[in-house]
Amino acid sequence: MTGSILIPCHRCGRQVQSSQVRDGRCLDCRVEVALEELRAEHARLWRKRERYRAKGANAESVGRQIAKTEDRMADRIRELVPNQEEAVEHLRKALEQARGARYDIRRS
Ligand SMILES: [Zn+2]
Repeated sequence: MTGSILIPCHRCGRQVQSSQVRDGRCLDCRVEVALEELRAEHARLWRKRERYRAKGANAESVGRQIAKTEDRMADRIRELVPNQEEAVEHLRKALEQARGARYDIRRS
């Protein structure tokens, strides 16, 4: 039996199985880091669409860009998370966070 050795993730400090760690980071952190750029892009496009809609402009092309960004997020997660169920869960969370960001913007 290969014993499961727990080591701390350098980014979040959580104890994780050593087999889950690459470059000192746990899988969750690797996914987060990999998505940072796309998340920022998603937020930018989302705000752009809100602005277009507020002006009554046609936001369809921005909507397509948002969908494309979400596809790229899904691709990146699939590259990092081999288990399909886990990948779906990661994507669900990432999209929830990305789409939920607008509520923070509105509330403030
Ligand atoms: Zn971590």
